[in-house]
Parts: sequence; structure tokens; C-alpha cells
Amino acid sequence: MSAFFKSVETFQKEVSNEGARLQIAYGDLQDIFKKLKDEVPEWTDIYVNRDESSFGLERDKEAGKIFQELGITAHGFHDHYMHSAQEIKTNGGTAYKVFTPYYNKWIERQKSDPVRVDFSSDTILKEQLFLKDNDKFQNFLNELAPIPVTEFGTKEAHRLLDSFIENDLKAYKEARDFPLKDATSRLSKHLRTGEISIRTVFNKVMSQEETKGRTTFIQELAWRDFYNMIYASHPDQKDAPIKKAFTKVEWDNNEENFKAWKEGETGFPIVDAAMRQLNETGWMHNRLRMITASFLTKDLLIDWRWGEKYFQEKLIDYDPASNIGGWQWAASTGTDGVPYFRIFNPTTQSERFDKQGDFIRKFVPELNKVTDKKIHQPEKLTEKEQKEYKVIIGKDYPEPIVSHKNKRKLAIAAYEKSKKAM
Ligand code: FAD
Repeated sequence: MSAFFKSVETFQKEVSNEGARLQIAYGDLQDIFKKLKDEVPEWTDIYVNRDESSFGLERDKEAGKIFQELGITAHGFHDHYMHSAQEIKTNGGTAYKVFTPYYNKWIERQKSDPVRVDFSSDTILKEQLFLKDNDKFQNFLNELAPIPVTEFGTKEAHRLLDSFIENDLKAYKEARDFPLKDATSRLSKHLRTGEISIRTVFNKVMSQEETKGRTTFIQELAWRDFYNMIYASHPDQKDAPIKKAFTKVEWDNNEENFKAWKEGETGFPIVDAAMRQLNETGWMHNRLRMITASFLTKDLLIDWRWGEKYFQEKLIDYDPASNIGGWQWAASTGTDGVPYFRIFNPTTQSERFDKQGDFIRKFVPELNKVTDKKIHQPEKLTEKEQKEYKVIIGKDYPEPIVSHKNKRKLAIAAYEKSKKAM
């Protein structure tokens, strides 16, 4: 949330550099729009990028009624995704459950301008009409929880896109899974706030030479649309598993383990490095989001909703559809999720995607001196090695809080029990 308002603040500066003024109003929807209409009676039209699910959808419906009462023509658009939730349907007109057939239709469908919804009018907004009282927003910003230092704004978003295309797009397919390589676009927070349009990203990438990297990247953009579509067709998915068979999983929900996970103190270096990356920067690499979400739900048997809410608190790119979708994927409760019996082994994931351990070293400095081979399982260091590498296990860095081998079996049993009970 804080990140969103920081982005608005940056936008405010950007438009002021262009000689315009952006005024921000906040408060009760009805009061604000009434006040605005009272102050500016010549206000006749409003242009809105509409939400398709959950809180945003309800808010837009309420706003629609208010505009009608005030005699204001509302022009709605769907412009946050390449294709809105209702656009890509099966031939039978139902929502897709699996990504690949969805993607096949998504990629074939012509990419056009934003889809206009609900209202039509040719009237153009004549002036910039805003409330005069702008100090309140500054006070509001000052009161927000601090967020990690990070760049916002359209300029930064375009710089990132250009740099990604030049340096990383071609090799994206192979490099995207390695956190240390930093080979992904980092565009998520800019897409979330609309600092860059999804159409700009799509068109610029598609204008590049066709490579495996390009195809994979475009597929990731389609995942973003896919999860939006899933959220719109399962409005209760923040609280309810999509796969009903897993409604009755008996979560362990151990508070101490949850705290260790949040703080990056689990004794599993790759999990700890990832959680510290999240806490320190407000962003986490996709491979690590999968590893930490799998670890929380399968190794600790903690309810995926707890993890989803923690990510919501911390992520500067928090997007309800993608976050809930990602969590339900990892917890095997979602549509097209990872099968419940295919559980990530955090150690082998670490050996595979951070072979030399340099990502771990970056965020877990206690393990700085441990060799590449031993860094993935520091609990196996001998006393002599612990002294040599200046890390005493259990004192400077925790012992693993669980046994992966045992917990794996328990998780599978818990999922199977729920399946049988349903
Ligand atoms: P890139 O690899 O450069 O991808 C380009 C863009 O494609 C991203 O910016 C994003 O908009 C989209 N994208 C990529 N992967 C996915 C995906 N798996 N699902 C949906 N869209 C994707 N993404 C969010 O934007 N907000 C979230 O709150 C969020 N929570 C997640 C939680 C979990 C448990 C998991 C497993 C994934 C989550 N993701 C989320 C998806 C993904 O991890 C991020 O979009 C990605 O890491 C952002 O980095 P990037 O911009 O460098 O991605």
C-alpha cells in the first residue's frame, strides 16, 4: 500500500515537471465526489480504468452510482491487463482452468487498444479539475510505514524495460531462475501501479527478434492475465482454496515456526536469504517466491493464507490476483497448481539455483566464509569447520527448524486426509 502512494507521489512530481498539477483527494467516496462537484459544477465526465474483482470491483460499482446521481458521465476502460478477465474464454464460454490452452487462445487473439466498458460519450474532459486541499496527501504520506529504498516512476520503468530488452531478453528462458543473475525485468511494481502500460511492454518486446527468451517472457505476461481471470471467476479465492478437496487440510500453524520463516531464521539458507531479500528490499525473485511458499505450506504445514498476507504486507509489487494465484499454486490448492505430492526440496533447490551460494552470502552474511559445497546445509559442518568459517550453528546461525524428510511425509498425509474427507 505504501508503495502505491509513493508511486502516486512520484507521478505528482512528474506531472509538475511538465507544468501540470495533480491534486489528490481521499476520504469517503460519496463525500469526496460531492465536494468535487460542488467546487467544480462544470465537471461532466470521468475516465476510469476499471477493476474486475474483489474490493476494486465493488468500489467501482459504488462510484458508478455516485456519478449517476451527480450527473457525471463515466467512461470505463479495461487497461490494466492485455486482455480483461471476460475476454479469453473456452469455446463453451467458461473460464479456463489450465494455463496452456488459455495461453494458446491469449496469444492468438489480436492485441488491440484498451477495451471501453459500460459507458460511451464523446465529451472530452475540458480542464484538469481537482480539489485544492493538497497538503493532506503530504501528511498522509509522511504517516505511512517506511518502504525500502526503491525507484518509482514512468522514467524508471522505461529505463528498466529498455535495459532488460538490451541485456537480458534473449537469455531470459535460461537465466530467469537464478536469483543472483538478476536477469528478470523487475517491472512488476511498475506494471502494478500503471507506471508503464502492459501494452508498451508487450509491443516493445514483440518487436524484438523471435527467441526462446522472448516467448518465455511473453508467457509470463500471460500468467499475469491468467491470474486476473482466475480471480474474477473465483472472487472468494483470497480465503477459500480453489480445489475444494483441500479445504480440510489440518494446518500445523506453529507461531514460532511462522516467526522464524518471516525473519529468515529457519536454518535453511536459501529460504532465509529469500525472506531477508523480501524484508530488506520489498521484492523477491520468482524462484524464491516458489521456494519460500512451498517451504511454508509443505515443510512447516502453515496455512497458505498466512503467507499470502505476509507477502501482501511486504511486497512493493503486491498484486492480489498474482499473489493469491502464486500462493495457491505453491500450496497445491489452486487451479493448475503444483501437485500436492511434488514437494520442493529446499536443499536441492538451493544447490541447483544458487550453486556457488553467492546469493545466500549476499543476504545471510553469517555464512559468508562457508565453502560453496557446504553452504546449502550448514548444520552438517563439523565443529572444526564451524570455527574455521566463523559460524557456530545454533548460536550464529540456527539449526534447521524442521526435518524436510519427515515434514514432506506429513504434508502429503495431511493433503490426502483432506481429500478423503471431502
Ligand atoms: P519478470 O520475470 O521480468 O516477468 C515480467 C512480468 O510478468 C512481471 O513483472 C509480472 O508482471 C509478470 N509475471 C512474471 N511471472 C509471473 C507469475 N508467476 N504470475 C503472474 N505474473 C507474472 N507477482 C506480482 O506482480 N505481484 C505479486 O504480489 C506476486 N506474488 C507472488 C507470490 C508467489 C507465491 C509467487 C510464486 C509469485 C508471485 N508473483 C507476483 C509472480 C512473480 O514472482 C513476479 O511477478 C516476478 O517475480 C516479478 O519480477 P519481475 O518483474 O522481474 O518478473
